[in-house]
Amino acid sequence: MLATRLSPHLKKLTKVCPEIYRQFVPSNKEEQDETITSADPLLEEHFTVTRGLVHKYGNRALVLLTMNCAAYCRFCTRRRKVSDIAKGIVSTKDLDNMVRYIKQHPEIKELVFSGGDPMTVPEILKQALQKFVKLPQIKVIRVGSRLPVSNPSAVNKKLIEALKIVKKQPLYLMLHFEHPAEITEATIKALNRLRPVCTMMLSQTVSLKGVNDSVEILYNLFSRLVEVGVKPYYFFRCDPVIGVEHFMVDFKKEIKIFTELRKRLSGLATPLYTIDAPDGSGKIPVPLDFWEFKADSYKDFRGKKIKVK
Ligand code: SF4
Repeated sequence: MLATRLSPHLKKLTKVCPEIYRQFVPSNKEEQDETITSADPLLEEHFTVTRGLVHKYGNRALVLLTMNCAAYCRFCTRRRKVSDIAKGIVSTKDLDNMVRYIKQHPEIKELVFSGGDPMTVPEILKQALQKFVKLPQIKVIRVGSRLPVSNPSAVNKKLIEALKIVKKQPLYLMLHFEHPAEITEATIKALNRLRPVCTMMLSQTVSLKGVNDSVEILYNLFSRLVEVGVKPYYFFRCDPVIGVEHFMVDFKKEIKIFTELRKRLSGLATPLYTIDAPDGSGKIPVPLDFWEFKADSYKDFRGKKIKVK
């Protein structure tokens, strides 16, 4: 059962922005799912190889350091266990077990730290990074977080010092944004503190009914992200997890919205629109309405048919 938590920063925003309120304040709709029954559609428990390490794709592994977040998003994919602090923070022994598994699997080249939010536990993050950066097989490190949005003042010296451990590998920060009103002055300042210690900041956005199911909102979000130095990376269809059905946008409407966005946004501001297949088989790009691409012809953004020469 996902607990309720809001930071003082978000509490203020929920009072002026209904789209932010819906993301963090529980509704009784969470108890009313009709068609979704799975708590773990991406089969992460099945692919957990040692506590805190999920190895589903050959060359990369997911590291889950904690079940803690600065605020709990009601649509969280891992709501089955996020906020359950008892299942929470990994120990030094868990980290050593992860190192052992990674060494036994030289095909793992990339580590992806994901939520609960690893940036909310800078001491553990530092300890984990100290162990992982020493492994010559690890070429890339990604850290996912919503902290710059949910509690920007917690992007502090301690966290920056932890991230500075990564020197040899490129460090990509994958930051969660769902609505343009989340890009406040405080969040921009947090991004400015993170920028010098990473290779690149990218964003992930989940498509959410009543939050961002509109061309205007997403246009503003992705345009603003580029302006504040964050490259929009993924736009995900909401995962079909029990308790989140009320957030799922009608698929045809979602495709229509994204088709329109693709016409209006620059390439830099356009994320990859993707569905994470609910049988654990991975991410699949969603074809858009104008993408009637055949071997001998295709349609442009205005629907004009063009022959391939
Ligand atoms: S910050 Fe990430 S892990 Fe935490 S509740 Fe939100 S989506 Fe889930």
